[in-house]
Amino acid sequence: MQQTDEELARARTWLQEARHVVALTGAGISTDSGIPDFRGPKGVWTRNPAAEKLATLQHYMSDPEVRRAAWRSRLDSRMHQREPNAGHFALAALEVSGRLSALITQNVDGLHQRAGNSPERVIEIHGTACEVVCMSCGERAPMERALERVRAGEDDPPCRSCGGILKSATISFGQNLVKEDLERAQEAALTCDVMLAIGSTLSVYPAADAVPIAKQSGARVIIVNAEPTAMDQLADVVLRGSISQILPRLIGES
Ligand code: NAD
Repeated sequence: MQQTDEELARARTWLQEARHVVALTGAGISTDSGIPDFRGPKGVWTRNPAAEKLATLQHYMSDPEVRRAAWRSRLDSRMHQREPNAGHFALAALEVSGRLSALITQNVDGLHQRAGNSPERVIEIHGTACEVVCMSCGERAPMERALERVRAGEDDPPCRSCGGILKSATISFGQNLVKEDLERAQEAALTCDVMLAIGSTLSVYPAADAVPIAKQSGARVIIVNAEPTAMDQLADVVLRGSISQILPRLIGES
């Protein structure tokens, strides 16, 4: 425990002295807001490996039953009613302090923006579940509006403009990531002096690449996660425990 306190104090000092911090967040920062992760001990895929199919583009596009199941699970998840937690608010405070140059997130829940981080600083590498996109004409609309249609009885609501298949505006397996977002994330990782990796198994690429890129460019790497990650050996310090408890201590005033 003593050692953890020392490590936390060391990491705090690095953050206070830093001018360009980049945070990389994964599903673990949002579990305390009631949104389960995928690969943690209570993760959606750990408990039900078949759920991964709903996130695979080829299955989603070719199988109406997969789409109906995906809409039902979007309704059940209540992701859009969740509130940011102390971990999200700590990162918003880091931005207010002027030291956060970018927040790269694997999350699709929009909670960083809801906590107060500015949209232009958040790079949503896996897209957003707050919007839907038509896979034919590309039109985007708020997710909440599509969910209203599902609640009203449409089990697979089509695009209102062209009749195409609607999908959440997340990046599914088998779908390309957005080149501009990847470039921005890479540039941020290349130029930061501290990389703060939070709540990610650091096993999903290319998002996780930001950590070795930052390390090779001379940044200190701080990892905050309850369990070992794929990149603990790269880190200058690993803080093991609850994100919503550690981040306020790491970033907060006291
Ligand atoms: P992951 O599910 O692979 O891993 C999450 C990690 O966080 C695990 O190591 C887990 O032990 C840890 N963790 C969970 N809760 C924690 C807590 N309260 N305190 C400390 N550690 C905690 O997540 P990932 O690597 O980000 O990959 C999953 C992918 O699925 C992401 O890329 C994302 O696109 C998507 N996803 C997003 C959300 C969301 O938007 N909230 C939720 C689930 C999955």
